[in-house]
Amino acid sequence: MSAAPVTLRDQFGRGIEYLRISVTDRCNFRCQYCMPVEGLPWLPKADILRYEEIVEIVRQLAPLGLRRLRITGGEPTIRPELATLVRLLRDVPGIEDIALSTNGVLLPTLAAPLADAGLDRVNISADSLRPERVAAIARRDLGFDLRAAASAAQAAGLSPIKVNVVVMRGINDDEIADFAALTRDHPWHVRFIELMPVGELRELTWEHVVPTSEVLERVAALGALRDDDGPARGNGPARYYRLPDAAGAIGVITPMTHTYCESCNRVRLTADGRLRTCLFGDHEVLLREALRRGEPLEPLFRQALAEKPKEHALLQMQVGGLRALSQVGG
Ligand code: SAM
Ligand code: SF4
Repeated sequence: MSAAPVTLRDQFGRGIEYLRISVTDRCNFRCQYCMPVEGLPWLPKADILRYEEIVEIVRQLAPLGLRRLRITGGEPTIRPELATLVRLLRDVPGIEDIALSTNGVLLPTLAAPLADAGLDRVNISADSLRPERVAAIARRDLGFDLRAAASAAQAAGLSPIKVNVVVMRGINDDEIADFAALTRDHPWHVRFIELMPVGELRELTWEHVVPTSEVLERVAALGALRDDDGPARGNGPARYYRLPDAAGAIGVITPMTHTYCESCNRVRLTADGRLRTCLFGDHEVLLREALRRGEPLEPLFRQALAEKPKEHALLQMQVGGLRALSQVGG
């Protein structure tokens, strides 16, 4: 069945066709830019949506024009039986694309079952190619190896494979060229993300942000970059380039120096059943209670969208204090 026309629009006329679903606020990593070492106050188990509840929300959104899903967290792969959720979502009429954002630790074992269940593609976060540095940034040594994770995803048929690198001055910016060089031989799309000053950034400050212009200068040392359309699937906020004869593209995502709000087509579902209409700020509507009472959710979807802000205020901020991305399904 083809997708329904997009009838969910916010007060500024932006149509909503993309939902990011957080399945947990917990994580097996403690990335310096995302979570304090001791973790965060986790959501009570009773408040976390069951898979059937997530699927019911998607089932009610799809006829209004929802087409694309991304499963995220926290770390989504640590939630048991994630493939079951993928399988249930795959069966919802109108859903055309299901993607996953993961730190990749469990991909060598989970890529194949997730692909079998109907997952289309994956974004892998990787901030270093050096094992000891991965462990230092993630503050956990779980043996993550980007090449092993991405190769497993590739072998399982997940495509395209995107690699997300948060660039931090003095921490991993000396690996920008190494990451970019991976695209010469691998059909992976390596995207450099500007560090955002959100959450509990006790160790990282504004001084650690490396502007994208600087990232591109360092990449260009490898060869002349030409503009690229990027991967065919997923029209997110990245701009893409390609090195001569490279198999993959190089993307940049610039939350700190540009805003993408004008063309924002997405909303987020938190693990405890809140519809968040903006990554930053506190615009959210609780769906969980109405869902558990068996009430129709469309009025709440429309209420949430009526309140979707025109743009976020991150660019004006130079200090932390906003919720961590792991808590809001970043
Ligand atoms: N755990 C999964 C992962 O790491 O891919 C999914 C959730 S994670 C919150 C989603 C993405 O947000 C990751 O690519 C991560 O690097 C990015 N992220 C988290 N905090 C960030 C920050 N302060 N600045 C920039 N990117 C951030
Ligand atoms: Fe976990 Fe992802 Fe946050 Fe790292 S960025 S702590 S992997 S949720």
